Amino acid sequence: MAVPKRKTSPSRRGMRRSHEALATEAHAECSNCGELKRPHHVCAGCGHYDGREVAVAGRALKRAVRI
Ligand SMILES: [Zn+2]
Repeated sequence: MAVPKRKTSPSRRGMRRSHEALATEAHAECSNCGELKRPHHVCAGCGHYDGREVAVAGRALKRAVRI
């Protein structure tokens, strides 16, 4: 089995981990209920999109959208 010749230094480890920061997820306020939702997605709280109700609120979104 291949084994590293040297221990990874704290500097090298830090350089590798400089790319591991989590990015902030995009979010927007729902214009109907004010809850935070993902842009261009149906609101999970009230089922509204683009100012009208497109899914039944409270039900699993995946099922409600396909009906
Ligand atoms: Zn909403």
